[in-house]
Amino acid sequence: MKELLRKLVQAETTTANGELAAAKVISDELGRSGITARIDSWDQTRANVIAQVKSPAEGRQAGLQPGRKAAILFACHLDVVGPGEADWKYPPFGGIESDGRIYGRGSADMKGGIAAIVTATRQLVEAGTRLQGDIIFLAAAGEETDSCGAKRFIRDCNWLPGLAGVVIPEPTDFKVVTAHRGMLWLEVTTKGKAAHGSTPQLGVNAISSMRCILDELENYKIPFEPHPAPIERSRASGLGVPKSWSIGSSIGAGLGECSMSINTIAGGKALNVVPDKCSIGIDIRTLPSQNHQDIISDLEKIFGKLKSKNPQFDAKVSVIRGVEPLETDNRCDFVKDFCAAVGTTKTKAVGFTTDGPYFASLGAPVVIFGPGKPELCHKPDEYIEIRDVEKAVEHYKNIILKFLA
Ligand SMILES: [Zn+2]
Repeated sequence: MKELLRKLVQAETTTANGELAAAKVISDELGRSGITARIDSWDQTRANVIAQVKSPAEGRQAGLQPGRKAAILFACHLDVVGPGEADWKYPPFGGIESDGRIYGRGSADMKGGIAAIVTATRQLVEAGTRLQGDIIFLAAAGEETDSCGAKRFIRDCNWLPGLAGVVIPEPTDFKVVTAHRGMLWLEVTTKGKAAHGSTPQLGVNAISSMRCILDELENYKIPFEPHPAPIERSRASGLGVPKSWSIGSSIGAGLGECSMSINTIAGGKALNVVPDKCSIGIDIRTLPSQNHQDIISDLEKIFGKLKSKNPQFDAKVSVIRGVEPLETDNRCDFVKDFCAAVGTTKTKAVGFTTDGPYFASLGAPVVIFGPGKPELCHKPDEYIEIRDVEKAVEHYKNIILKFLA
């Protein structure tokens, strides 16, 4: 397990490098237990890796036969963000082991989770465990950028058997996460007219137009209904199936508020040229009650107002990336049984975003649960505790046995 994790970190799956090397590591690892994995590769280096551990009842038709159980999909991502500018204690792609930890970019987000589910699956197969439903494993490309791998998997998913649920082994420090905010990344561009810097009256300054937009956005609040705190069972208990579920005290915050932050700006080419283009990047995090299109329409209304004041004003907004919020019903059987399998009664909402909403479109409940501390993600000196990955192996085996044995 440790060696697998180190190899996955060393595969250096940044967007520039692609995921193919890591997909091969996983395919080889599963192959050692006789599990065939399919690598779906495109653009030379991009790759998803997919495996289906079929339960023995072969030759079944569409639909479930009596006694058969719906499958579980474990949906991971292979890619990582870059190491950043800061100095690291250990090389970011060394996969160095120290103090019971594996250090490296992606160790927590989310190669620890991948190593755990691959190891759990291998151990069950090697033990000859008879399952009544299929384990489906996916490690997808591009979660950190455009979700290209998840979209591709969903597009070609006719072969998938019926799913009881989807588990995303992202680092949640073993909290059962059932809700997260959505993400809407927008680019706003103003167009002007270039002129010599000494005769600005002959041009239209795109930076001045952008300043008008920035002034407007300073006072603009995206309307939203506060998200209710998550539902949990009234009293935390140790193990076993909860007898009853009720709306109890909240655990931490719900999804909090919708947020908006202007995080990039670019405009102008030379000191003596009136700029004909300026653009900003806006990062908006949304709640389940919000509609992304409504936010875009609000911005377009602001542009309309500015144009009515100044006919030379010209701006447009485009979507760089949109991921819907995730909200799985905490009262569904899958979530209850999942919580029982991992020995908790609590679910949680988080502020970060995953590929979860794409898998929710399959119509199955989605739960995020895995080893590693979320606060270490995307930071220098990212690491994961080896004993947490070992603990995750046991949890994933218990989850598989709970739903498929
Ligand atoms: Zn992640």
